Amino acid sequence: MDCLFCKIVAGDIPSTKVYEDELVYAFRDIAPQAPTHILVIPKAHIASVAEVTPDNSHLVSRIFEVIPKIAEAEGLANGYRVVSNCGPDAGQTVGHLHFHILGGRELKLEMA
Ligand code: AMP
Ligand code: ZN
Repeated sequence: MDCLFCKIVAGDIPSTKVYEDELVYAFRDIAPQAPTHILVIPKAHIASVAEVTPDNSHLVSRIFEVIPKIAEAEGLANGYRVVSNCGPDAGQTVGHLHFHILGGRELKLEMA
C-alpha cells in the first residue's frame, strides 16, 4: 500500500523515533508547529478517525495510554494538545490515523 506512515513504520522512510511498542509508533513531525510536535500512530493501517471500529479501537486506546507517557518524557508538565485531523475539511494530509501531540508553548484555541 502506498502509505507514507506505513513506510515510516516499516523503516523504508526515516523518522525520528520517540516511542515504539508492538502496536504503536511515535516520531517527531517533520514540520513542527510547536517546540514539541510528535505524531503517534497505530502500526496497523487505519485511514482516519472515521475508520475506527470495534475491531481496531484497542489500538486507539493503546495510543491514549502512550500519549501521557510521551508527554511526561518530553517534559510537558505544563500541558499539551492532542489533535487528529479527519478528512479534507480538517486538513488531513496523510491518510493513516495519527494523533499530533503539541506542546512546549502556550497554544491558542484555534477552532477553525
Ligand atoms: P495532518 O495534516 O493532520 O494529516 O498531519 C500530517 C503531518 O505529518 C504533518 O504535520 C506533517 O508535517 C507530517 N509529516 C509529513 N511527512 C512526514 C515525515 N516524513 N516525517 C514526519 N512527519 C511528517
Ligand atoms: Zn498506512
